[in-house]
Amino acid sequence: MQVLHTYQELQVFRKSLDSVGFVPTMGALHPGHASLITRSKQENPQTIVSIFVNPTQFGPNEDLSRYPRDLEADLKLCQSLGVDGVFVPTVAELYPFEHAITLNPASDLLGHEAEHRPTHFNGVLQVVLKLFNLVCPQKAYFGKKDAQQLLHVQRLVADFFLEIEIVPCEIVRDHDGLALSSRNVYLSASQRQEALKIPQALERMQIAYQQGMRDTASLIRIGLDTLQGLEVHYLSICNHNLEPLAQVKSNQTLILCAVQVGQVRLLDNLWV
Ligand code: AMP
Repeated sequence: MQVLHTYQELQVFRKSLDSVGFVPTMGALHPGHASLITRSKQENPQTIVSIFVNPTQFGPNEDLSRYPRDLEADLKLCQSLGVDGVFVPTVAELYPFEHAITLNPASDLLGHEAEHRPTHFNGVLQVVLKLFNLVCPQKAYFGKKDAQQLLHVQRLVADFFLEIEIVPCEIVRDHDGLALSSRNVYLSASQRQEALKIPQALERMQIAYQQGMRDTASLIRIGLDTLQGLEVHYLSICNHNLEPLAQVKSNQTLILCAVQVGQVRLLDNLWV
């Protein structure tokens, strides 16, 4: 496995490869990331992983400086999964200009995060486009865990005619149902217990849906009842363009949830 730090090293390495599957990450890797890497390994002759905590997607009051980092463990995991190359650039390497060109998310997709993270997806799109141009993958793997990120990246690829197949990957959960996230390490034992209301809320909504409930206001009421005591930023039922729905439509519906638990903002969702 090659560990590549610079753009030039990556370019030389990339030229030696044929078809590449790409898994962009911010590190502190867990089994959720591993599932993306494993899928890429199955579907591509070569796999490149990037590990980069991207400053432009963090807001001024977010956790950039204390975001969990463990490069040694990450590289070990990548090695054990048979990754071919890991790109670990510095901020200066990826942002060579003091004044960078920026990308604005499509306004129809921004809705839910506009209040709490108004510039988050600008940074995500910026870094994803840079990484796509550097890695030149045929396929790129993104978790459904970050549903809105996935939808933004799919829009980026379609809007800029990028020849990359975006592969959505299922959410990996811990044994207690909490969606795995690098940020879960911030949770105290009691906060984690509280956070379990999130998957419970989604599960109860799913059961009600399976029993025939289609009215989204009633489904949201069930979810909010379960989330009582938590600071809910939103619990929303929408289509894949993030437009709110009055009735659930199968295969086109997304239940999105963002909840603040202590210092941690947790995202979870359900693809109906
Ligand atoms: P991150 O390192 O948090 O930026 O995540 C890198 C990629 O891993 C993104 O495409 C995430 O959606 C995906 N990911 C993170 N957590 C999970 C999870 N629990 N299940 C599936 N994919 C995940």
